[in-house]
Amino acid sequence: MFCQDYDTLVQTFEKRGFTVHSAASAQEAKALVLSLVGAGASVGLGGSMTLGALGVYEALTASGHTVYDHAHSKEPDIYQKENAADWYIASANAITRDGRLINIDGRGNRVAGMITGPREVVLVIGKNKLAANEAEGRLRAKNVAAPRNAKRLNLKTPCVVDGKCHDCTSPDRICCVTSIIEYRPYWVNAFHLILVDEELGY
Ligand code: SF4
Repeated sequence: MFCQDYDTLVQTFEKRGFTVHSAASAQEAKALVLSLVGAGASVGLGGSMTLGALGVYEALTASGHTVYDHAHSKEPDIYQKENAADWYIASANAITRDGRLINIDGRGNRVAGMITGPREVVLVIGKNKLAANEAEGRLRAKNVAAPRNAKRLNLKTPCVVDGKCHDCTSPDRICCVTSIIEYRPYWVNAFHLILVDEELGY
């Protein structure tokens, strides 16, 4: 089970303009992504360990989509291309029981991609991302997601050392922007949340 009172969680997000899909497994989530993205559509991917675990880039490429992904490209304008695609697919650092999406970002491309980028957005979210409220979600983003990502990227931040946020001023700071999405942004035609009954990503 994704969480207790799952039906209430789904209703809470639906009331805020999101379209919720349920997946029992990572494989089911990947199949849902493929079924949502129409034939011929281009796709931008936000940096995400979840998408990497699912093999979303490989699956979309194999099905003939043009996929822009900075993890698979060194083009200097790859971030702009991701955010100008038809679809944007990413994950979230935390979601809350009262229907908020919490994300931190160093470059800012990923949070922008969910707000004023592609008109269709899909976030794939494992059950480990659920937080009770905004404060807990922010704590999760800064004390779970950020340290692990900073360590993976070999950044020199204090959270890599002890797994805790110090609100640092390091040039390597990985969380320069925090976004709280409280309702589907006007720019986005459809904002899909695929809630996966597995632990995925950071
Ligand atoms: S502010 Fe610095 S210490 Fe805190 S999570 Fe971000 S990078 Fe890590």
